Amino acid sequence: MGKIIAYFAPHQDDELNNLGVDICRECEKGHDVFCTLCTDGSSSFVRKFLGNGEECFLHPGRHVYHMERPEFAMARDREYRASCQSLGIREDRILISPDRAQDGSLSVEKAEGIIRDFLACHPQDEITVKVIMPASGCRQNPDHTNLGNAAKKLYAQGAFSHLELFFEPLLWGEPSPEKAEVERIDPENGEQRKKILKAVAAYNIWDPDKGFFAVGYHSVKDEFDAFAADPHTYRKIVG
Ligand SMILES: [Zn+2]
Ligand SMILES: [Zn+2]
Repeated sequence: MGKIIAYFAPHQDDELNNLGVDICRECEKGHDVFCTLCTDGSSSFVRKFLGNGEECFLHPGRHVYHMERPEFAMARDREYRASCQSLGIREDRILISPDRAQDGSLSVEKAEGIIRDFLACHPQDEITVKVIMPASGCRQNPDHTNLGNAAKKLYAQGAFSHLELFFEPLLWGEPSPEKAEVERIDPENGEQRKKILKAVAAYNIWDPDKGFFAVGYHSVKDEFDAFAADPHTYRKIVG
């Protein structure tokens, strides 16, 4: 029976901005780390921005890259995979749920199904599930809240052995009661910092011929820049 660490990311970039510091640390320890993406990220305004011929604040000229949702999701998935790989996850452990939701519509039930599907593939293993903490009293993305609540529910039912929750650095300024219960997690050395910055750079790759459209940076540049300047997260070990 092996030990497995299983992260579940609601969207492309959550594995980095919310969970990345911890992923990097666990990979360096040599643990068996998996990450599963739970939505397609196709609802982002960036899909239309890349196709509507507006001037770009990041790149010279105007973008005329029309993409339907599936093609746009694939472009986002490339950034997600490159980010996970930079953080140290083995390629065959970077997962995208075949049953993922369109972002904005990840229900607790859907998220439970995605976690259960993963657990069913690892029946003999001792599993630690790590997800974003549901945070009350602040404007948390509902996909984040629902995925966190699904993990809490399954843990309470004994579906897996250990649960860790991560409070989002972006919500730190808001008056949520949950943040009183967390410890701050930082990179442990320069090597980890380097890997994290490489993962950030994955969301800023502009190479349309190869299907890289810097979707992450077009979407939340300030969030990535703030994270790169001071990469950290907040952890609560539930049990
Ligand atoms: Zn997210
Ligand atoms: Zn651009």
